[in-house]
Amino acid sequence: MKGVEKVKEKFTNMETAVIHSGYDAKEHLGSLATPIFQTSTFTFESAEQGERRFAGEEDGFIYSRLGNPTVKALEERIAELEGAEAGLAFGSGMAAVSAILMALTKSGDHILCSQGVYGCTFGLLQLMEEKYQITHDFCSMETEEQLETLIRPETACIYVETPINPTMKLIDLELVAKIAKKHGIPVVVDNTFSSPYLQQPLKAGCDIVLHSATKYIGGHGDVIAGLAAGKKELIHTIAMTTLKDVGGVMSPFDAWLLLRGMKTLPVRMDRHCENAEYIVEQLKQHPAVQQVFYPGDATGGDYEIMQKQMKKGGGLISFEINGSKQHAQQLLNRLSLIKIAVSLGDAETLIQHPATMTHSGVPEQKRVQMGISDKLIRLSVGLEAKQDIWEDLQQALDQLMEVKTPIQSKQA
Ligand SMILES: *Cc1c(COP(=O)(O)O)cnc(C)c1O
Repeated sequence: MKGVEKVKEKFTNMETAVIHSGYDAKEHLGSLATPIFQTSTFTFESAEQGERRFAGEEDGFIYSRLGNPTVKALEERIAELEGAEAGLAFGSGMAAVSAILMALTKSGDHILCSQGVYGCTFGLLQLMEEKYQITHDFCSMETEEQLETLIRPETACIYVETPINPTMKLIDLELVAKIAKKHGIPVVVDNTFSSPYLQQPLKAGCDIVLHSATKYIGGHGDVIAGLAAGKKELIHTIAMTTLKDVGGVMSPFDAWLLLRGMKTLPVRMDRHCENAEYIVEQLKQHPAVQQVFYPGDATGGDYEIMQKQMKKGGGLISFEINGSKQHAQQLLNRLSLIKIAVSLGDAETLIQHPATMTHSGVPEQKRVQMGISDKLIRLSVGLEAKQDIWEDLQQALDQLMEVKTPIQSKQA
């Protein structure tokens, strides 16, 4: 029912797969770019053909909420990039998170989550608890024991974000997958921060990978979208229940934008990482900066895990300044090239203050526990010249040193 099943060519190298997988120009009058099938429905040649399509006896499209050729090309591409049997597209990252969690749980179940999750995922978990008695626990997932203590008979899935937003702490995916397998519990990984170019959770033994494609996969800050990949049977179940019947599908035009953005994913990610590594080194030497959190930092606590499961450290950095919430806001206000905005993974360098923006909905005590203090700042390093990014950041940090209110010393 999900459309035409064809065996398309497989590509071993990701740089080639992002451009060619899921699409064959020969099937579309030679069109180099994937055509946008801007149609709600598909006509049947006969009543009998309609019957066969609905019965699943004949491949072919029916109605765009059940499958669309442009969206299908994107679904095949994400599957290939993540090393999965099947892929699925959603109207937003949150549509992917909610459809997957709803498909895996029922009333009375329990979800075990990484210590930090995306703000709206946190909101969804609370909603599921209030409305459907699906409870959750947060776990640092650093050791086998920590996981074993919190897994219950009702635990229906393990939900992991790594790197964790916005503290950039890492979770060892192989370790989590090993324990989960022992208990027969599926592991879902939100891979938004890394993209398939830097990290492929299914290869570490996890079961479903999801993305806010709004971020690195789209890469140009012009679309809200979600993607998932995993085993054919599980993806098919989600497609035919909590995607089809709840209805958070992706539009053909958004799929086209993503197919276009994805072609440069490896090239962009390499530059994001190169720029971020440079900014990290500069930040570490600035006296207004107290601490820098970056997975690719060889002196950081998670460097071993990063080397095991990530190709490079990524484009996101968070850092704590010597100062208060007011100092953090002053810093943001003094920037000009760097834009104050939530979201990440765009060509433009974006900066935000998690305590008052993305994580303002988390109760203060919980927020501090999660490592999100008032002096924490998150930077999504863009594709501009790294010297220009640093110049903007440096003049704003320098001014922090000059303000009348004395900033606490590094030791404080
Ligand atoms: C943005 C984001 C989401 C939500 O995605 P939307 O496309 O905004 O719905 C989920 N997880 C992470 C880690 C994100 O950064």
